Amino acid sequence: MSNILKKIKKANLVGRGGAAYPTYLKWQAVKKEKNFPKYVICNASEGELGLCKDIYILENFPEMVLKGMKIAMDFLGTKYAYFNFNAKYYELVRKRLDPMIKKHGDKGYVLRVFKEKPSYIGGEETALLNAIEGQRVEPRLKPPYPSEKGLFCQPTLIHNVETLFNIAKVEEGTYDVKRFMSVCGKVKNPGVFYFHENYTIEKVLHESKNYPDFDFFVQVGGSASGPVFNMEQIKEKIVTGAGSIEIYDKKMDVKKLLSKWFDFYANESCGKCTPCREGTFQLAKLVKDNKKVPWKEIMEILDTLDKTAFCALGGGVSVGVRSYLENVVCNS
Ligand code: SF4
Repeated sequence: MSNILKKIKKANLVGRGGAAYPTYLKWQAVKKEKNFPKYVICNASEGELGLCKDIYILENFPEMVLKGMKIAMDFLGTKYAYFNFNAKYYELVRKRLDPMIKKHGDKGYVLRVFKEKPSYIGGEETALLNAIEGQRVEPRLKPPYPSEKGLFCQPTLIHNVETLFNIAKVEEGTYDVKRFMSVCGKVKNPGVFYFHENYTIEKVLHESKNYPDFDFFVQVGGSASGPVFNMEQIKEKIVTGAGSIEIYDKKMDVKKLLSKWFDFYANESCGKCTPCREGTFQLAKLVKDNKKVPWKEIMEILDTLDKTAFCALGGGVSVGVRSYLENVVCNS
């Protein structure tokens, strides 16, 4: 095992895009493939509601993200990499980033920037491959996984911005088991914070000076797909999804909450499969068209989505709703 792979394994580094897959396993999977060229992709899409940690990292530590990409390219023995950018993000960082990319180009690395129309599904790793290849932006059937047949059918390593930042820290010996957290919603001090990954939700709220003085609930790991927890449950550390906490007032109108989630999903559904394309549209419409929340119909559609959606976007629609009912409504 190479030195850098040993360090990554020892650091227990996991992906920070939401899936928390062990980084060293991903590296091994791409390394063992025989086909060349191989590609490294930095996924700077960040289309989930409530997240802004990746743009924070890109604005403040672009050299670390590039360093992480270079380390991955050297490990795989390739010179080819792509930055997959939410186009809005690229405009914010291009002035600082472009000269750095050019510097790497002078050393023989071929780093290309791909600007995508901001979307939630554009961050899904196979939809992202389709986008770069100029195909319709929708997820592919897996397997094969990108590690085997990724960009242009070649072995491809895809990492989130924060993961690449962490790889650079591990290589430098400065990785301190911290993670970036976006804190938003009904708070006094919204922003991105950098705390030890063992911090509980409660501790993040206290130390970021965001602990509310009213009854509240939180949504963790993405403000569309993340689970909802009540005030007693925030003594847990954040284990799921990407690093984000949104605070909601417990008195919040439930129709407003459901509309926020369902409108987002209806807009972001890529349309590839019927349960999600039609289901998310109907969910949004049901909330809009009824004075009282039609729970029975909503739960029926969510059951169908859970069982039949093609990808995690459709499968994730029910997470917020079910956890809200279980943890907030049933615990009141
Ligand atoms: S679940 Fe939704 S986002 Fe995923 S493939 Fe189906 S339509 Fe597209």
